[in-house]
Amino acid sequence: MAKAVCFDLDGTLARYTGDFQALAALLRSELMLHMCDMNSFYSTLSTELTRDGALTLEDSLRRVLDRLEQRAPADLDRVAADAARAYGEDVRLLPGAKELLERLDAAGVKMALLTNGPEDMQKAAINVLGVARHFRAILVSGDRDVAARKPAPRIFSLACTGLQMVPEQIVMVGDNVEADIGGALDYGLQAVLMDHGGTGAPDRAPAGVPVVTSLAELSGLLDELLQV
Ligand SMILES: [Mg+2]
Repeated sequence: MAKAVCFDLDGTLARYTGDFQALAALLRSELMLHMCDMNSFYSTLSTELTRDGALTLEDSLRRVLDRLEQRAPADLDRVAADAARAYGEDVRLLPGAKELLERLDAAGVKMALLTNGPEDMQKAAINVLGVARHFRAILVSGDRDVAARKPAPRIFSLACTGLQMVPEQIVMVGDNVEADIGGALDYGLQAVLMDHGGTGAPDRAPAGVPVVTSLAELSGLLDELLQV
C-alpha cells in the first residue's frame, strides 16, 4: 500500500498561463541582443533553461550571452530576478489542485513536490501558488542542493529521504512519461500518469501505470492507492 505522494508541478498541479515568447522578447530587448534574431535567441534560451545541474535564470542568461559572445549587463541579476518574478506570477494551479492538496494533507498523507527547472523561476511560481506548506520536501532540479533533473535517480532519492519512506511506499504523479513516470519506476516508486484533458498519453504509458485525465479522477485513484 502507498503511504506518500510525489507530485510534479508543471502540467500536473499547475500550468504557466503567460506568454513565454513575450517574456523572452522582453529579455532579448533588455539584454540589447537586437542583432540576434528572435527565433535563435528563443531556442538558445530554451536549451539553457533545461540544462542539468544547479541552475538559475541568471545562469542561463549568462550562458546565452557567452554563446552569442556578448557582454553581460551590470544589472543582469536584476533583469533575471524581474523575469523570474514575472514568470512565477503567471503560473496558476489547475482546477481542483488546491482542494486535493488540502484534503490529502488533512488526511495525514505525506507529500513532496519534484519539479524540473531553474531554481529562481520554479521557486517564484511555488511562492505565488501558496501551496508550499503542504509538502514535506520541495525539490527543484536547479536548486544547488538538488542539482538533478527528473528522471535522475538523485531527485527521487532525495524525495524518499524527505518523506522518510522507502520507494515502494510512494506514488509519483506526473505528466511526463520519461521524466516523471520512467524516473519513478526506475527508482522503485509507483506511478500515475496525468493526462489532463485526455490527449492520448495512455498510448505512451508503460504497462501497468494508471492514467488519469483530471485531478478529480486522480483524487479518487489516490484514495484507493493510499486507502484514505
Ligand atoms: Mg510536468
